[in-house]
Amino acid sequence: MHKPQNIVILTGAGISAESGIDTFRSDGRPEKQGTWEQHRIEDVATPEGFARDPDLVLNFYDMRRADVQTKQPNAAHHALARLDREWNARADRALLIVTQNVDDLHERAGAQCVHHMHGELLSALCSACLERSPWTGPMIGRPACPQCGETALRPDVVWFGEMPYDMESIYGALRGADLFVSIGTSGAVYPAAGFVQDARSMGVQTLELNLERSEGSGWFDETRLGAASVLVPEWVDEILA
Ligand code: NAD
Repeated sequence: MHKPQNIVILTGAGISAESGIDTFRSDGRPEKQGTWEQHRIEDVATPEGFARDPDLVLNFYDMRRADVQTKQPNAAHHALARLDREWNARADRALLIVTQNVDDLHERAGAQCVHHMHGELLSALCSACLERSPWTGPMIGRPACPQCGETALRPDVVWFGEMPYDMESIYGALRGADLFVSIGTSGAVYPAAGFVQDARSMGVQTLELNLERSEGSGWFDETRLGAASVLVPEWVDEILA
């Protein structure tokens, strides 16, 4: 693999698993049922589910929001933050972290260039004025929007059927990249799952770091299997060497 200049990194729930945040799908052990699997996706991750039972949905994300604030970034987040800092310090190189995660562990590790394509738990979206506001507390009591005063806040999380954030700049970065790295994602949720094919079609090198092969594993030039807390710091050392 030649030395890249412009890198786009896609992260998924797997990078936060060792920080104690459940992934979307559990590992199949009966005693380890994931948070998400106790609910149907249609109930907690669609606009229709929210319209049907707002209390259920607000309560679900209130719990996720409270939980995430008790967790800490792990070695993989810290390694990417170091890469972000050192790589972007040079004018002739660029690095963008695109995350599907709604936690803030990349930022808390110190990363600056992060796009949350699926939104953020620590943000509220007002359905009345469409403004986004930083949010750490619960929403179940229907607090007023800090921007317009309406009681129309919802979790600032992109649900199934909604348009992910920042797609134009993400595709722009992919077009200018020479390396695409996917970390801790199952490759089951589009459009993120399609980035590897987009990258390949543009001649970008592709690398996968994951616990197990993802659904799109065959599209990657190289796959390394193992825990993110081990693989990511190793790869960052390699690329910065
Ligand atoms: P996913 O749960 O579908 O897949 C997780 C992947 O991570 C799997 O392929 C698994 O093998 C891998 N993995 C698990 N532990 C790992 C480890 N220690 N090291 C490396 N890899 C590991 O997650 P996804 O592909 O990101 O899609 C799920 C969707 O759910 C996303 O859209 C995301 O917004 C949302 N989600 C977010 C969070 C979060 O913010 N932390 C948590 C759960 C779900």
